[in-house]
Amino acid sequence: MSALVALIGSAGALGVAAVLDSDQRQAADSQMTRRAELVTEAVTTETRRYVDTLQTVAAGAGAVETLDAAKFAQLTGPLRTMRISGATSLALAVPATTGQIPQVQELWRTRGAPTLELKPVGTGEDHIFTIYSEPLDGGPPAVVGTDVSQLAEPLQAFTRARDSKAVAISNTYLLLRDRNLPEGQRQLSFIITAPVFGSAGDFRGWVLMGLRGKDFVGSTIKRVSENLSVDVMLHDHDAAGKPVSVAGLAALVPGERDMHRHVEFSVAQNTWGLEVSAPSSEIPGATSALPATVAGGGTIASLLLAGLVYVLATGRSRAQHRVEQATGQLREAEAEARSQATLTEAVLNSISDGVAVVDANGEYILHNPAAKRILGVDLNVNRPDAWQAHYGIYLPDGSAPFPVEKQPLIRALEGEPTDGVEMLIRNAGQPNGVRISVSGRPLGSEAEQPGAVAVFRDVTAQKAQEADLTAFAGLVAHEIRTPLTVVAGYAELLSETVDAGITDPQALREPLTNITAGAQRMTRLIHDLFEYVTTQDAALNITNVDLRALAAEVAGGVSVAPGQPEPEIHIGELPVVRGDFGMLRQLLGNLLGNAVKYTAPGEAAHVTLTVRPDRPGWTWIEVADRGLGIPDGQYEAIFDEFHRAHTEGPYGGTGLGLAICRRIVQRHGGMIMAAENEGGGSRFSFTLQLSHRDKGRHRARQK
Ligand code: ADP
Repeated sequence: MSALVALIGSAGALGVAAVLDSDQRQAADSQMTRRAELVTEAVTTETRRYVDTLQTVAAGAGAVETLDAAKFAQLTGPLRTMRISGATSLALAVPATTGQIPQVQELWRTRGAPTLELKPVGTGEDHIFTIYSEPLDGGPPAVVGTDVSQLAEPLQAFTRARDSKAVAISNTYLLLRDRNLPEGQRQLSFIITAPVFGSAGDFRGWVLMGLRGKDFVGSTIKRVSENLSVDVMLHDHDAAGKPVSVAGLAALVPGERDMHRHVEFSVAQNTWGLEVSAPSSEIPGATSALPATVAGGGTIASLLLAGLVYVLATGRSRAQHRVEQATGQLREAEAEARSQATLTEAVLNSISDGVAVVDANGEYILHNPAAKRILGVDLNVNRPDAWQAHYGIYLPDGSAPFPVEKQPLIRALEGEPTDGVEMLIRNAGQPNGVRISVSGRPLGSEAEQPGAVAVFRDVTAQKAQEADLTAFAGLVAHEIRTPLTVVAGYAELLSETVDAGITDPQALREPLTNITAGAQRMTRLIHDLFEYVTTQDAALNITNVDLRALAAEVAGGVSVAPGQPEPEIHIGELPVVRGDFGMLRQLLGNLLGNAVKYTAPGEAAHVTLTVRPDRPGWTWIEVADRGLGIPDGQYEAIFDEFHRAHTEGPYGGTGLGLAICRRIVQRHGGMIMAAENEGGGSRFSFTLQLSHRDKGRHRARQK
C-alpha cells in the first residue's frame, strides 16, 4: 500500500507541488488582505460610534433653549457610564472675539458656571473657550475657560465642523498638559468635535470629546489584532500634513513581520492610515515548506490525509471563531443599542419641545416629559378618536373643537406630513389654555406603517407677543399719522397761498412753522421708537455701575426749556449696582428729564435722587420732584406706550420715555412705579440689583 502510495506520490509529487505552491501564496495574500480589512473595519466602526454619539449630544444641545450646566450634565450623563475607550473628557466650547469675552463670561456664569473665567491666549481676535467639561476617564473635573483656539490641530477641526455643519476629527497633537510628562508616558491625542446649531439654524458652539491615541487604538484594535495575529500601527498627519504615527499594537506572536498591508481611509473629514504587518508563519498557507516536501518525495496519501485533518481541524476552529465573532458583535450591537437608547432618552428628557410617538394603532410608544408639561395631562389615551376630548384640543381661537381628521398625528398616521399646525389646548391641567404649534411625520414606509411622530411647542408667549406687536404697530401708525396729517394740511395751505399770489411773509410763515414742527415731531417719534425697540432687543452687558457718578453725569446734561430757570438736582448716596451702563444712563436720563420738564412755567425744578432698602441684594432708587405731579388714576397708565398725561401746555413728548424706562428696569429683573410725592410733585421708584461690593454695605445699613 505504502509502496503504491509512494509510487503514486513520486509520480504526482512534482506536478502537485508546483500547483500547491502558487495556490498557497495566493491564499496567504488574500488572507493578509482580509485581515487588514477587518482591522480597518474595526477602527472605522468604533470611530463611527464616537461620531454618532457626539452628533446625538450636539443635536440635543441644540434643541435645548437655555443650555445651562445642569442640562449639559443631563445630556452627557449617559456617556459617563458608557465605555468610551481613550476618551478623556467631553466639553462644550463657544466662540468669542476679544471684545465679547466679558459678555460671554457673564452669560455662562449665569448658566451654572459661577466661577468661570475665560482666559484668552495669544494676540488674535478670535477665541474658542471651553465652558462646561465632564471628565470621561474618572479623572478630576477638567479646567474650563481655556482658550482652545491656539492649537492648530483642534482649531482646524473646529473650523471644519462649523463650516461643514458635520462632525470633524482633528489631526493628532500633544496635549499641553502632557508636554511635562516623561517621554514614555506622553501620547498623541486628538479631538472629535460636533457643531451645535440651534433650532433656528443659529451657530452656538461645539461639543468636543478629547481622546488619547494610544488608549483609543489599544482598546479598539486589541481584540481584532490578537485574533488575527497582526501588528497594527495607526498613522495620521500633523497640521502641516506630515505623516505621524499615532499608536500601534503588536500581536503576541513570534516571527519576523514579512507581510505588510497599508490601508488609507476617511473618518469624519480626516484621513487615517493603518499599517498592518504579520509574520508569514502565522498566516495559513504562506510558508512554502509543504510543496517542497512533496517535491522531495512526500506521498499523495499522507498529503490527502494531512489535508483532510487540516480541513477538519481548521474548519472546526474557523466555525468556532465565526460563532465567537458573531456573538461578540451581537453583544457589542446590543450594548451600543442600549447606550444609544439611553442617550436618546436623555436628549428627549432635556429638550423643551414635546415629542410623542405612536404605533399604527395610535398607541403611545414613547413621549417625553415636555409633552406632558405642555399638554397638562397624562399621555395615556391610546384611542385617536378620544384624543380631542382628553387633551382638550381646539381651534387656535378656541371657538370649536379641532376636527379629528385634521390633527397632525392622525394625518401622519395616514402618511401625510404636516408642519406648524396651530391649536389650543385647554383642559383641567391647562385651564387657561396654551397655544401649541405641532408638526407630524409618518414613521417608516407606507408598506410597514409602524406609526407616527408629533413634535410640538408652546407658542403661547410668542403668539401673545405677536398680538402685542400688531397692536403696537397700530398705535405707531396712529401716532405717525397725526403729524403727517398736519404736515400735509399745511403744505396744501401753503401751495394754495402761493397759487393765490399772496406774498405776505406773515401768511407764508405760519404753514412753514407748522410743517417744520410736524417734521420735528416725526423725527422725535422715530428716534424714541428706535430707542424703544433697542431696549427690547439689544443684549445686556451687565457690569458694576456706580449710580452716583452716572447720575451726576446725566444731571449735568439735562436740557431745560428756553426761559426756564436752572433746575436744582440733589444726588444722595447712591450705591454701585449691577446693570447695563448704557441702558441705566438712558433710564436716569428719561426720569430726570421728565422731572425737570414737567414743572410749572417759570419755576425751577427741584429733584432729589435717593435710595431706600429693598429685599437682600436689591435696592430701591427714587427720583422725586416738586413739579406738576401726575393726575389721579394715571400712575400706571403713564408707563404705557404713547400715554401722555399732560397734553395741554408747552410739554412736548412722544409718550414713549416711561415705556422705555419700564422695559429697561424689567430687563434688569426689577420693577418701576410712580406715586405722588408728599407735599407736591411726583416720585418714581425702581429696583436694581446691588453689586457684590455694595451688598455688604447695604446689609450693614439695614441693621
Ligand atoms: P413724554 O414725556 O414723552 O410725554 P413719557 O413716557 O416720558 O412721555 O411720560 C408719559 C407721561 O407721564 C408724560 O406725558 C407726562 O404726562 C407724565 N409724566 C412723566 N414724568 C412726569 C413727572 N416727573 N411729573 C409729572 N408728569 C410726568
